[in-house]
Amino acid sequence: MSDIFESLESEVRSYCRGWNTVFDRASGSFLYSEDGHEYLDFFSGAGALNYGHNHPALLRPLLEYLLSGAVVHSLDMKTKAKRRFLETFHELILKPRDLNYKVMFPGPTGTNSVEAALKLARKATGRFHVLGFTNAFHGMTLGSLAVTGNSMKRQGAGIPLTHASSIPYDGFLAGETPDFLWLRSALADSGSGLEKPAAVIVETVQGEGGLRAARASWLRELSEICREHDILLIVDDVQAGCGRTGTFFSFENTGIVPDIVCLSKSISGFGLPLALTLFKPELDLWKPGEHNGTFRGNNPAFVTGAAALEHFWQDRKFEQEIAAVTAQLHEGLRLIANATEGATVRGRGLLAGIHYPDPTAAGKIAAESFSRGLLVETSGPEGEVLKTMPALTISTTELRHGLEILAEAAEAITGQKIVLRTVA
Ligand SMILES: *Cc1c(COP(=O)(O)O)cnc(C)c1O
Repeated sequence: MSDIFESLESEVRSYCRGWNTVFDRASGSFLYSEDGHEYLDFFSGAGALNYGHNHPALLRPLLEYLLSGAVVHSLDMKTKAKRRFLETFHELILKPRDLNYKVMFPGPTGTNSVEAALKLARKATGRFHVLGFTNAFHGMTLGSLAVTGNSMKRQGAGIPLTHASSIPYDGFLAGETPDFLWLRSALADSGSGLEKPAAVIVETVQGEGGLRAARASWLRELSEICREHDILLIVDDVQAGCGRTGTFFSFENTGIVPDIVCLSKSISGFGLPLALTLFKPELDLWKPGEHNGTFRGNNPAFVTGAAALEHFWQDRKFEQEIAAVTAQLHEGLRLIANATEGATVRGRGLLAGIHYPDPTAAGKIAAESFSRGLLVETSGPEGEVLKTMPALTISTTELRHGLEILAEAAEAITGQKIVLRTVA
């Protein structure tokens, strides 16, 4: 049966193929299809819905704002909504963490933030080469693709992706060589052929590339190498940020302070498009309008973004709640993984999943989960990792319910009995 999505919408569509239903309403951790099925959401808009769907603390101020006749679109003009967002971000996020960053609003998507970061790093250093990591994902525009690992996505560029190279992420070489052996040696040797980079761009957890999580010590060493060689460190926190790994920024508690930070996905809190590029004040070398864009002043997103920070990030209580949910998720994943020889739990915080030795297993379990009312996706170059990303606001009961569906789906696919009894 063909429908308008298949007859009119491009073949490029992707998520709707695995989850072939028409969604209608959404609330908290649930989505509802027009034919009346309920789906528990372990996907959370790929990280754009950290506070769940239609959270009332964000919906109400948004509706009030829209109904009040306030300005919606304003490029980068000064608005009350933008002032409130900047003040709140400064007071609740930057100041308590002792982070001294300027805030730039690039276009409203993650890849816009990455492009701005790369451009600025090149401008500030006068160098053009950038280092990215194996299995990294930074977005689909040309600059971001050049530092992205996935060969199918890179192929889509249609032109050579240049001025970047890929070096091993934490765990890529399975601990067989000391961390950064090649990078240190190449930077030290003028005959290495490595163009001195402007920047290194890194995800602390590889959201799309297979959920490898970098160790804090590895990140610290990377940061030290960057400092020693006057290379800028960019952390792409588009997916791992906004509380996903347990703290607002994923690099808190690692001891590193990146020169540039990319945020998007959940920064509006409501699923509205918004992105920020943060950088140390001495890097603010832009000329007015040098990096421009029509949709940088998304006032509805400023309203929900400020409301999200005020509702969730006033104090440390939310971090404790995330920690409790994280413990429950990881325990459940461990029990599910234990049933399959060679399966391992990957990730950090509520960006976690299971790597299966059979690269087809995760995709089959995700499909089986959908038929049982759970949205869960895969990650990694072959889709070999089952990726769970519940809302940070999910309840214990909802999380248990989701883990039970996941366990049943995994049982159906692997044929191994799974008991989740120790999950609270
Ligand atoms: C999703 C993502 C991006 C790209 O964001 P878009 O809004 O899809 O352009 C960049 N980096 C990371 C780490 C992401 O997860």
